[in-house]
Amino acid sequence: MFKLLKNVELYTPEYAGKQDILIAFDKIAQISESIDTSMSLQAEIRDCSDMFAFPGFIDQHVHITGGGGEQGPKSIIGPLDAAELIKAGITTVVGILGDDGVGKSMQGLLMKARSLDADGLTAYTYTGNYGVPPVTITGRVLTDIAIIDKVIGAGEIAISDFRSSYPTRDELAKLAHEAVTGGMLGRKAGVVHLHVGDGKSGLQPLVDLLEATDFPVSMFVPTHLNRNKNLFEQALQYHSNGGSIDLTAGENTDDGISVPECLSRLINMGTGLENVTVSSDGNGSGAGDSQTEVGSVMALFNDFRTAVMDNGLPLPQVLKTVTENVARVLKLYPAKGRIAVGSDADILMVGKASLMPEMLISRGNILLEGGNVISIPN
Ligand code: ZN
Repeated sequence: MFKLLKNVELYTPEYAGKQDILIAFDKIAQISESIDTSMSLQAEIRDCSDMFAFPGFIDQHVHITGGGGEQGPKSIIGPLDAAELIKAGITTVVGILGDDGVGKSMQGLLMKARSLDADGLTAYTYTGNYGVPPVTITGRVLTDIAIIDKVIGAGEIAISDFRSSYPTRDELAKLAHEAVTGGMLGRKAGVVHLHVGDGKSGLQPLVDLLEATDFPVSMFVPTHLNRNKNLFEQALQYHSNGGSIDLTAGENTDDGISVPECLSRLINMGTGLENVTVSSDGNGSGAGDSQTEVGSVMALFNDFRTAVMDNGLPLPQVLKTVTENVARVLKLYPAKGRIAVGSDADILMVGKASLMPEMLISRGNILLEGGNVISIPN
């Protein structure tokens, strides 16, 4: 019921020095320089003096039921094991279908999200696939978001990609209306999560929509914006106009720009990383359009680590792109995305020397310890 983490060096994501953290059930109950529970509570105590504590990572773009399928049935990727997310320090995940709304279904996605919850994580989904109109559960994006607890937005809807349906401005407007209204009725983010392909027009369809309508810019989350250099230039412009931009971890192609490099550029330009998020595209077809390998959710942690250790970027700022910023975009903040009293007890602890995941606590349960995954009883 009670867990006490002693002497951990805390990033909330802001640096907060050496602290003790008391967890009660699934929440963070107290944070202070010295907590003594011996007189009042039976707490499980861990000495964490060789670890940093971060909020659990939030990955808003994961093919939890498996992506692929674009090279025929043999290329369909299977469902993601919770252990992969746990080893990667991810405590909150948003599952997506991707292109394949035939081999995979929204019902399957929803059930997989429930299964990840049972494994101790927090899982959500978007409703839809690449094409417009998208596949849904109830027949409408609006109703899915309004009444299905786990559905927090529409996505991933494709634009500027030969696999997209090239939605017209009116079609995108209708979709945005469904998402924003469903979000209002269901008290969700109601975001439209947009897969942006390598197509000629890049972000332009979204920019045109925003110019012609009054939808709040914050409800759109275009992703894969580091997949080619022109698109990243467009993304910088879009971001400077107040838009949120999502980068895909593990990008290592000649055309693309890696996440650590993108973050370096944003910081060096003085733009900062507010409204910048990173997701893994995990368990879909591999990074860089390689259709042969399966993308790993670990790419998210690897890029975070490289940005801090090799590129020397400020840890709190980089950490926000996979925690607080994502929680804000998805309106999960302040329950998610920070370590503070009253927030969910989602804590990733990494070795100070290795900067690798050592312990993961999700909704108060220890799911990883000493690098080993621990399954919780169902
Ligand atoms: Zn995509």
